[in-house]
Amino acid sequence: MSAAPDPELFDKIVNLCKRRGFVFPSAEIYGGFRSTYDYGPLGVLMLRNVKNAWWRSMVQLRDDIVGLDAAILSPPAVWEASGHLANFTDPLVDCKNCQERFRLDKLEDPSNCPSCGTKDSFTEARQFNLMFKTHAGPVEGAGHEVFLRPETAQGMFLNFKNVLETSRKKPPFGIAQVGKSFRNEITPGNFVFRTREFEQMEMEFFVPPAESQHWYEYWCQQRYDWYLEHGIPAEQLRLRPHDAAELSHYSSATSDVEFLFPWGFDELEGIAHRGDFDLKAHAEASGARLEFFDQTTNEHYVPHVIEPAAGATRTMMAFLMAAYAEEEVNGEPRTVLRLHHRIAPYQVAVLPLSKKDTLTPVAKEVFQLLAPHFMCDYDETQAIGRRYRRQDEVGTPFCITVDFESLEDRSVTVRDRDTMLQTRVPIANLVAQVHGLLT
Ligand code: ATP
Repeated sequence: MSAAPDPELFDKIVNLCKRRGFVFPSAEIYGGFRSTYDYGPLGVLMLRNVKNAWWRSMVQLRDDIVGLDAAILSPPAVWEASGHLANFTDPLVDCKNCQERFRLDKLEDPSNCPSCGTKDSFTEARQFNLMFKTHAGPVEGAGHEVFLRPETAQGMFLNFKNVLETSRKKPPFGIAQVGKSFRNEITPGNFVFRTREFEQMEMEFFVPPAESQHWYEYWCQQRYDWYLEHGIPAEQLRLRPHDAAELSHYSSATSDVEFLFPWGFDELEGIAHRGDFDLKAHAEASGARLEFFDQTTNEHYVPHVIEPAAGATRTMMAFLMAAYAEEEVNGEPRTVLRLHHRIAPYQVAVLPLSKKDTLTPVAKEVFQLLAPHFMCDYDETQAIGRRYRRQDEVGTPFCITVDFESLEDRSVTVRDRDTMLQTRVPIANLVAQVHGLLT
């Protein structure tokens, strides 16, 4: 496979997402609301699978990471201490000719307006804070201000002590969280790549300071491998260390996992070595003792933090793009999403060969048998060939066909999305067989 992305891929994915019910523009019947999106029947399944696949790798399969679900609304003190009130800004410039606004650091040529083409038309850059502010309770104004979190990470620092005391973990250990974050982005765009409301998957890994470099390298490798394991081809993925100028003031090292989007390599996830910046800042501002007492050395210390921070919605888009293929089968075009089985919206589809009443009871029985174990679709409309194509286009790894023979031999046909090969399987063995295929 070539690394160069198909120039039409972006439009094809946006179109597929709308047409098949993955992603809809938000508030569409009112003309839409810029850069916000709703996840439809297939999108909600796929997005949930992306988050579950992350949770499985980060929490379920490990004994050194625990989960958390912290509040989205938070008081100014949190963001004062974390540095977000002062520093969570992007440089904003206005074009004096067409009045369009841009993020200076994302402009290809800062002397040329990409909207109207005027030269040297930008105002001086001013720092624009990306946090959404609102107020709690019936009274507006000072003392009632609250912020929508711009990242999930602070929840882990605020609960460091709670988790330490209740989970019996000790460094090296991590706290993981998946949830919504909000940023008043200056230039949202590229579909769900950059939106003002999005979902993050973040983990703070607390380590003894002397081990921090080891764990930083470990997490860079782990996170890179996670995307490979879930279907992103190696030639469309890279791990890019930040150069010194890019690093945040508190970070001694950061690397981004980048995917080859149609516009070039761009970030899916950042892995940052944050040192002891966050725990120290919150300890100082709150008066809480955010330290670990090491009984073996009889010493208190502030753990260092390695943070892999990924975007769920952005990753879903990358998975869709990497999985999309068009091919010809027996002279007919076929669109197929070769999604990893853990990421695909449905794992199986049950398709009675025809809509005849005689087949429905067995087909429903097969659906009921599979539904407790796998996310299953059931479809009895249209000719079987068209239904296979519909399932291929949304990435369903296996189609189970119930035909007239099934009534006699109590067996069904299992069709593989990628090879299109069909095998006959007794209904009695179906759950075990599909389990075997999906591990
Ligand atoms: P960028 O430089 O693109 O603005 P960032 O480096 O500020 O992003 P982080 O703060 O490291 O992003 O957030 C971690 C992850 O959250 C990103 O890698 C991305 O996947 C996701 N993310 C951040 N901002 C957005 C957004 N506006 N829309 C969708 N996903 C986002």
